[in-house]
Amino acid sequence: MRPGDGASGVFCQCAECKKILLAGELFEALGVCPNCGHHHRLSAARRIEVTFDPGSFEELDADLRSIDPIEFPEYSEKLRKAEAKTGSRDGVVSGVAALDEIPVSVAVTDFDFMGGSLGSVAAEKIVRTFERGLERKTPVIVFSASGGARMQEGLFSLMQIAKTTAAVQRCRDQAIPYISVFTDPTMAGVLASHASIADVILSEPKALVGFAGARVSKQAQVSKVPDNFQTAEFVFEHGMIDRIVPRKEMRPTLIRLVRALGGHLRG
Ligand SMILES: [Zn+2]
Repeated sequence: MRPGDGASGVFCQCAECKKILLAGELFEALGVCPNCGHHHRLSAARRIEVTFDPGSFEELDADLRSIDPIEFPEYSEKLRKAEAKTGSRDGVVSGVAALDEIPVSVAVTDFDFMGGSLGSVAAEKIVRTFERGLERKTPVIVFSASGGARMQEGLFSLMQIAKTTAAVQRCRDQAIPYISVFTDPTMAGVLASHASIADVILSEPKALVGFAGARVSKQAQVSKVPDNFQTAEFVFEHGMIDRIVPRKEMRPTLIRLVRALGGHLRG
């Protein structure tokens, strides 16, 4: 159980400042440390609970399950373990929900499922999220938390980058608003596809955002990397995202955005 999800026991420790906190206090604070402001990762279920109208979320495509297309060593076992850990059949939880009674199509990645990696099923669920936005004429919201493509699916995984990107374009052609939210981390193949081509891109504070990873970038010795390299703050300074939004402000911010961007869909 992660701190932001309601740690078991009375006390828990902030992953950043190491302060001992009351588990209930951290839970009520949506997993944001009251001492240092660190945003602990949330499960997809908790993210949905704290973001959308209570009881409005209806999960769809929950039964989709990955196969092992290239018989990658230990992939099947890893999938089973991730299922047991998260209670989901893949890393993306998707469906329909409401924000202040405005219907939206949503997909939320759970980092605890194999690092939120983008495999065939995760991508299919994201594509169906965009297609539901098109069919129902509702805004689309995607929360990312991913290390990138799922290497255990080899090239099948890389093909998903083109697939989700094409789905975004189909929404754009029909003026369906799409809001992408980066949470820690939003990396590699996910950053290089649907996550970074939204109408509005938001990020939680201090989220890791990048392509190759700081260690690889340093090894490549492209140039000296700044201290805040590949953080939400760094990419905001460089114009890649529109706003950094603390978790407590995410729901009201999304409500304002779907009201402003989706007015034409509601006649
Ligand atoms: Zn802290």
